[in-house]
Amino acid sequence: MELRNIAIIAHVDHGKTTLVDAMLRQSGTFRENQQVAERVMDSNDLEKERGITILAKCTSVEWKGMRINIVDTPGHADFGGEVERILSMVDGVVVLVDAAEGPMPQTKFVTGKALGLGLKPIVVINKVDRGDARPHEVHDECFDLFAALDADDEQLDFPTMFAVGRDGWADDSLEGPRKDLSALFDLIVRHVPPPTRDLDKPFSMLATTLEADPYLGRILTGRIHTGVVKTNMAVKGLDREGNLIENFRAAKILAFRGIERVPVEQAEAGDIVCISGMTKPTVADTLCAPEVTEPLKAQPIDPPTLAMIF
Ligand code: GDP
Repeated sequence: MELRNIAIIAHVDHGKTTLVDAMLRQSGTFRENQQVAERVMDSNDLEKERGITILAKCTSVEWKGMRINIVDTPGHADFGGEVERILSMVDGVVVLVDAAEGPMPQTKFVTGKALGLGLKPIVVINKVDRGDARPHEVHDECFDLFAALDADDEQLDFPTMFAVGRDGWADDSLEGPRKDLSALFDLIVRHVPPPTRDLDKPFSMLATTLEADPYLGRILTGRIHTGVVKTNMAVKGLDREGNLIENFRAAKILAFRGIERVPVEQAEAGDIVCISGMTKPTVADTLCAPEVTEPLKAQPIDPPTLAMIF
């Protein structure tokens, strides 16, 4: 299945959850509105029962035979390289902005890093139904923000959609019929490049997030950089310097489907998956086939971009 990996950057309350929910409903992932509601509730109940976070930080929707992985970005500024690692999993970003409030200072940090990584932004100006909406001004504010963050010409030529996520529509104009999110799905597929799928090289993946599951133990999530990983395959963990941390077997491989994670037999370069079976490797380490010697690194962001923000 063809893939796209995106992150949504949004200030809290600008409508990210509502929009992703509408994307789930309208995509092929779930057919009935009812089902999404039930699944969300199921997960929450399970969460309460187990007292852990099992809700994925990644959601995937299907659109015209294509899978779009949507990665959650932390809204807060972070100095541990977490944002770079998360953004290194995606090939494009949707910058979601409230049509009345405009871009907020708190999202500049993540937006600046995304632009510094060369990711092409799509701007979604949301909540255009608000009485105090000023969509065109907000569009210009996004342009000015990107320019101040050193965006290149291609990034400044960003496509814009106007949306009411709550009503489940997004369109490139404020006039005309308002149907659904098809135009946004199509834009994501068209504008965001597909991940490189280097299947000839051995398996390698940069571990991006870590969690502890009571049944599966340690779980590391990341984007597969090269090759294929199969359940039970021999894998090793390398630290940032390339030192061996542990040899283990990929006990379980989980892929994102809607808001759930499902076990899969194998996964390929380009996809974002969770792997269990290790006891020592952690975030920023590389999981790879035994013959790999070079660790993966998240691309550092050039200093001038950061200087613009602080
Ligand atoms: P998040 O914090 O970015 O995930 O935002 P939510 O999706 O939780 O939405 C925050 C608030 O904005 C909620 O009260 C939503 O009902 C409201 N909201 C979401 N989408 C829209 C919209 O398109 N128009 C308006 N007017 N309100 C919206």
